[in-house]
Amino acid sequence: MSACNETTEIRVCDIVFECPVCHKSLMVDEAAEGLMVDCPGCAINVIVPPKVDQTPPPPPPAGVDSRLLALMSKLKELQTQRTEISNNIAARLNDISRQMVMLARLESSQQQMMQEWARVLDEVKPVSRAAGQTQADFKA
Ligand SMILES: [Zn+2]
Repeated sequence: MSACNETTEIRVCDIVFECPVCHKSLMVDEAAEGLMVDCPGCAINVIVPPKVDQTPPPPPPAGVDSRLLALMSKLKELQTQRTEISNNIAARLNDISRQMVMLARLESSQQQMMQEWARVLDEVKPVSRAAGQTQADFKA
């Protein structure tokens, strides 16, 4: 076994662990994994633990996928709301144009009634003229 705890520099191959008795930081070669070494601090035999990978694993693509999926579902929600509001607006516009048509119809029937009114007035004109004459007679 090649102990490399004399060196201050931590090599990639080194296993860094703490002595369970004196809590001294021990560095041994990766090859010493599972073997007994003498602790330089308290001279006790300690078993070298398995090497722990200190570098955090890179974010898996699945994480990116789930973020994209979350964004996609939010976008879908937004689009659903937009469609709902657009449909509401379209329905209201439809309603407005229908009422405009109804208003136009009412206006044209009002015009017809006014024409009818004028015709009736024309028919009763002699009477009203007579009434006017009566009034004139009254005034005279
Ligand atoms: Zn120790």
